[in-house]
Amino acid sequence: MMFENVKAAKGTNLEIEEPDKIVLHNGVPFLPTATDGAAVKAIATPTATDGASDIINVENLVKVYPGGTRAVDGISFSIREGEFFGFLGPNGAGKSTTIQVLTTLLKKTSGSVTVAGYDVDTDAREIRKVIGVQRQETILDGDLTGRENLTLQGHLQRLHGTALKKRVDELLTLVELSDVADKRAAQYSGGMKKRLDLASTLVHKPRVLFLDEPTSGLDPQSRVAIWEHLETLNRDEGVTVFLTTQQMEEADRLCHRLSILDHGEIVVSGSPVELKHQLGGDTITMSFANSGGVKDRSKRIVSGVQGVTKVLDTETGLAAYAKNASALVPDIVRLFDENEIRLTSISVASASLDDVFLQYTGRRIRSEELSKVDTWKPM
Ligand code: ADP
Ligand code: MG
Repeated sequence: MMFENVKAAKGTNLEIEEPDKIVLHNGVPFLPTATDGAAVKAIATPTATDGASDIINVENLVKVYPGGTRAVDGISFSIREGEFFGFLGPNGAGKSTTIQVLTTLLKKTSGSVTVAGYDVDTDAREIRKVIGVQRQETILDGDLTGRENLTLQGHLQRLHGTALKKRVDELLTLVELSDVADKRAAQYSGGMKKRLDLASTLVHKPRVLFLDEPTSGLDPQSRVAIWEHLETLNRDEGVTVFLTTQQMEEADRLCHRLSILDHGEIVVSGSPVELKHQLGGDTITMSFANSGGVKDRSKRIVSGVQGVTKVLDTETGLAAYAKNASALVPDIVRLFDENEIRLTSISVASASLDDVFLQYTGRRIRSEELSKVDTWKPM
């Protein structure tokens, strides 16, 4: 055996929580099992006790932290086997807390949660065998090579020999790290580290993969590379994925279905297309120079323009929705001019999940990042 568990621990990668419970660096507590063996096998499917093909079922989940923070405030949702499901929400919405409860790392306050038919309170051990978890912070052993990191992870999952070697090679190929497999992880770029971290959650072939903001802090190119690996895993290997993100583009591209989370509550759920269609078209975003009562007056003006289906307040002005949005811009500009309201900017973009968030919460997730397709600035 290449690694001694305790030696490999080095304090940060492996924590001993309880004598019989070791936490792997990907956050999944490792519990020795009787079915310990060299072969890497897909885990047998237990009989679901509830909803025919729901692999995750959450009802009225509440988590109140000891200090009194109500991080999760009565949420219910279910995820079907093979689905790519997401939580989209800003910082502090309760995403990580939910993931920690579902992955048995944190005790809930109330409600019921089953994963693969097992109850988080009574069957944590069974759940841990069928899940993989990538936590928000990447923790790898920089002194080990990529290959060694994955091999260590396999050993901690009681996998050995040629079967493990084959699985490690497969994973290195999947995340496109074969070329650098024998370089120390400390020399990897941020994107490569995230990919290695992802691979390390997959060594034991989990049926459900939990990803907590898997691409936060990555450059756009690395982000797309991770997205492609996740799509492959879900599509070709049938892995059910539960992802959390603050990035609407990420949720939009990857999720079959998602819930928008805010202040510990689910504000709306649906497929990205369904959610965006509710807004009835493209977004026209406007901001004004003269403040005060201008906004209400502007809102009335814009609401009266033929084709506009909805007008919402934003921090800086208004957002209006319409099917033929670009064609309405000249009319809107003229009307503002006639009413002596000075527009500082007006732009048209496809409606995004951020617009959906705005509709339900009155705020933008990240206002500065609305992708502008077309901007017209009056002189
Ligand atoms: P997200 O992952 O969506 O950013 P979190 O689940 O981390 O949200 O946090 C939800 C809320 O719970 C926040 O108000 C956060 O400050 C609080 N919180 C998170 N972890 C703890 C903790 N260990 N103790 C007390 N409060 C916490
Ligand atoms: Mg979080």
